[in-house]
Amino acid sequence: MKKNVRKAVIAGNWKMNKTRPEAKALIEAMKPLVSDAGCEVVICTPYTNLETAVEMTEGTNIKVGAENVHFEKSGAFTGEISADMLTEIGVEYVIIGHSERRQYFGETDETVNKRTKAALSAGLKPIVCVGELLWERECNITEEVVGRQIKLDFYDVSAEDIKKCVIAYEPVWAIGTGKTATAEQAEEVCAFIRGKLADLYGNDVAQAVTVQYGGSMNAGNAAELLSKENIDGGLIGGASLKAPDFAEIVKAATNG
Ligand code: PEP
Repeated sequence: MKKNVRKAVIAGNWKMNKTRPEAKALIEAMKPLVSDAGCEVVICTPYTNLETAVEMTEGTNIKVGAENVHFEKSGAFTGEISADMLTEIGVEYVIIGHSERRQYFGETDETVNKRTKAALSAGLKPIVCVGELLWERECNITEEVVGRQIKLDFYDVSAEDIKKCVIAYEPVWAIGTGKTATAEQAEEVCAFIRGKLADLYGNDVAQAVTVQYGGSMNAGNAAELLSKENIDGGLIGGASLKAPDFAEIVKAATNG
């Protein structure tokens, strides 16, 4: 299976941005700009904007995702949101294990694994983030770090289920810093991830999984990154907050 038969996914990660009026304006501006996309278009918004986003994108090609999900179904977990709570309002995707959650909120590979399995059980499509710190890259252990994350984050996830997952390779040093991995660096690690999936699940499954790059992807650099064989889309932070920039990336994925 080749890149052109895998599903390209361009997903915006709004992080902790956009009040409801701001979210409405951004979605309104985005809708006509991405309506002819040849890839999957996803916006992952703060919890408070999810229902608005689902309502406003009904009947369009834009899918809605959350930025996190808890692994238990219900109970005494103050401040948390379950997978069923997301699906009941029409959310389809969820970002899991973003480096900001790993860095600032104690997310571990074990909790990423639990969240991934909970999301899959509820019918959500997880976008699971992996990636190395700058120090780890400098120590030449990027593959060791990312390989370990793939193994642990997808522990006990079946071959059928992994095909429903999107893997976002996000070098931590490139997120929100303006420093993008070169297309060659990004392709090298995305190809490594596919090889790791082939070890774990076999080549057919590995070829079917969407692997994104994320880290300061923007309207200017998207086309080159997305032209690479193993880069099937992007997880976009800053540039997803401006409709024309996000639409330019969607266009690059459509062409790439
Ligand atoms: C992200 O938040 O996943 C991300 C890649 O952010 P940015 O595009 O701003 O680097």
